[in-house]
Amino acid sequence: MGRITLDRVQKKFGDVEVIPPLDLIIEDGEFVVFVGPSGCGKSTLLRLIAGLEDVSGGEIRIDGRPATDLPPAKRGLAMVFQSYALYPHMSVRKNIAFPLKMAGMAQDEQDRRIAKAATALNLTDYLDRRPGQLSGGQRQRVAIGRAIVREPAAFLFDEPLSNLDAALRVGMRMEISELHKTLATTMIYVTHDQVEAMTMADKIVVLRAGHVEQVGSPLELYKTPRNTFVAGFIGSPK
Ligand code: ADP
Ligand code: MG
Repeated sequence: MGRITLDRVQKKFGDVEVIPPLDLIIEDGEFVVFVGPSGCGKSTLLRLIAGLEDVSGGEIRIDGRPATDLPPAKRGLAMVFQSYALYPHMSVRKNIAFPLKMAGMAQDEQDRRIAKAATALNLTDYLDRRPGQLSGGQRQRVAIGRAIVREPAAFLFDEPLSNLDAALRVGMRMEISELHKTLATTMIYVTHDQVEAMTMADKIVVLRAGHVEQVGSPLELYKTPRNTFVAGFIGSPK
């Protein structure tokens, strides 16, 4: 499962309306990319879905259940933060186990999930290391592992690769796409990088000043952009 619907979702900070009422449907298992220039509201929209910000209006449903008033931990979603959000003093195993430990999960179930995530992410040989002893790509995989073990209905990524150098970014992009195929779980991926959007997405949501300019597959947006903003954004390199 992992179908997310936004119905007239709106966000104001004080008097400033950052997200005017917005409708969006994310289908179960889709890889959806939110793309748009800096400050257009991508992170805010993701945080509203995650429950890290309260909506100013509208409704969010996750797999048909009203989620608007649920706290983040009850939404069944996992936000993947940049790799620097790891605990430096804890081993990889403990970093990955952290959300499970917080939830009071039985140790044998924790171990089972950690082993499964470590296999999916090629981290089995690194579980006893600390983040400082890993490469940037490995650290990013640990951050993803911490999300996988929760077996969420959807993964939410906010520019997860922006800390990595260009070569590593290409590799991680492919790894995340591969992981999406393996897990077949909904992923929402925020980026301002058109190449990431075009290469990773099933569906791209182009945002501009908090509203949706166009939604479509990479090919649809490329072939039939609705306006010059979409055309310019999709067509031109960074
Ligand atoms: P993006 O992720 O696309 O770069 P953001 O969602 O971070 O954009 O920000 C969208 C707009 O909302 C920006 O104008 C930003 O300054 C504003 N904003 C974001 N968070 C807050 C906040 N906590 N308080 C006030 N304004 C905010
Ligand atoms: Mg942002």
